[in-house]
Amino acid sequence: MAEVFDLVVIGTGAGGSAPAYRCRRAGWRVAVVDDQPYGGTCALRGCDPKKVLVGAADLADWARRMQGLGLRGEARIDWPALMRFKRSFTDPVPEDREAGFRQAGIATYHGEARFTGPDRLVVGGETLEARHVVIAAGARPRPLGIPGEEHLVASTDFLELDRLPDRIAFVGAAYISFEFAHLARRARAQVAVMGRGALERFDRDLVERLVRHTRELGVELRSSVDVTGIERVAGRYRVRFDAPGGAPGGGDTVEADLVVHGAGRIPHTEGLRLGEANVATDERGGVLVNQFLQSVSNPRVYAAGDAASVPGALPLTPVAGYQGGIVASNLLNGNSRTGDYRGVPSVVFTVPPLAAVGLGEAEARERGMDVRVKAEDISDWYSSRRVNEPCAMYKTVVENGTDRIVGAHLLGPYAEEVINLFALAIRRDLTATDLKHQLYAYPTSASDVPYML
Ligand SMILES: Cc1cc2nc3c(=O)[nH]c(=O)nc-3n(C[C@H](O)[C@H](O)[C@H](O)COP(=O)(O)OP(=O)(O)OC[C@H]3O[C@@H](n4cnc5c(N)ncnc54)[C@H](O)[C@@H]3O)c2cc1C
Repeated sequence: MAEVFDLVVIGTGAGGSAPAYRCRRAGWRVAVVDDQPYGGTCALRGCDPKKVLVGAADLADWARRMQGLGLRGEARIDWPALMRFKRSFTDPVPEDREAGFRQAGIATYHGEARFTGPDRLVVGGETLEARHVVIAAGARPRPLGIPGEEHLVASTDFLELDRLPDRIAFVGAAYISFEFAHLARRARAQVAVMGRGALERFDRDLVERLVRHTRELGVELRSSVDVTGIERVAGRYRVRFDAPGGAPGGGDTVEADLVVHGAGRIPHTEGLRLGEANVATDERGGVLVNQFLQSVSNPRVYAAGDAASVPGALPLTPVAGYQGGIVASNLLNGNSRTGDYRGVPSVVFTVPPLAAVGLGEAEARERGMDVRVKAEDISDWYSSRRVNEPCAMYKTVVENGTDRIVGAHLLGPYAEEVINLFALAIRRDLTATDLKHQLYAYPTSASDVPYML
């Protein structure tokens, strides 16, 4: 006998929660399923725990920068204690989330959900029949197809380390590698990062500055190599890499106690047996949806968050939450809401952070836009000097004629906060003049904004 629901949501993270709660509030019979502890990646294995750790790295670095400038005595990261502090955020999440669903009258299931038909799923031994299904199954590390791949640990494992190994290698030069490399280095590990194309989605000039800074911190950063294999050698790992175009069999190696996957993530849909439900996917496994986030091939099914294939939407928590809200509206009111992905900021939580929103300089020009670009090293501005941060730059892109802000790229202290002002401007069609004429609290990093335009 199948349990019958109006809605089954697969995934209890940022993308799945809004459809579950809102449809339940409208009187629907709703179930949620997760094969991991409830709460999703951001709260348990991503953004939130990461930023607790990065906070300590930031403080340790600030203390180092201020030596001789009024501060004496170093601040050292106590990794086990920091992990305990991190767990004070993550440990309560699964129980709290599940209790929240249950109190709302939502049925909760644990285990891997698999489709057995267009409106049927099994979880463990139980069959669920659903009028609608929301796939909010998140993402997983991208398979690399290299020998020794099984030796890689995922970002999730890194965030659970009770002890930080002495030598850590990161495979891939995407944002997770950069963030963890900065953190591990501030915790005094020897760190190597190997991959092709550092932080590809971010402004090249700012990335170049951050790469230089990362190397000055002592991170061995190779950002134009292909990792070709990982071997276990005498209790350690040996990571092999080739420079693209190099001689076959040539190349170099790095040895490490731990090798972490930081080479990108893909939609986590392989276990769902989407073929059984006629749910079409793109080549990465992302659920193909129309502008209402409804499956193009099975109208009962919607998708939100990292598992959905949506052009222009970044795999970030605010996007997953936003799409969850869109799906909820469309389920309840019929297909009427679509997404607007202009002005979604993204941040690399290095120390200092790198932040971006909107278009890059090259992207704007490729689209034939007539833009003016302002870019500067701002390490000598008050906001950078006050905290003795040598790594600080910005670039803004404004459309001539309309004066609309098209893109902003920030590197330096509080970039992760200031970027939100530019995001607001882009999403609300504010002009550069609007931002210039705003009165800002002073002295703050936000009060630098008028000078960036
Ligand atoms: C290390 C790391 C750091 C990050 N940092 C940031 C950041 O700073 N800022 C930011 O905005 N974003 C960040 N992200 C990305 C962000 O976490 C994701 O975009 C967001 O969590 C996606 O939410 P979601 O609801 O789509 O999926 P998730 O939160 O991943 O939830 C999906 C859930 O579905 C479960 N599931 C999958 N398949 C099945 C199945 N067949 N049956 C049952 N359950 C299933 C999964 O196990 C998972 O628990 C980070 C990610 C990582 C990994």
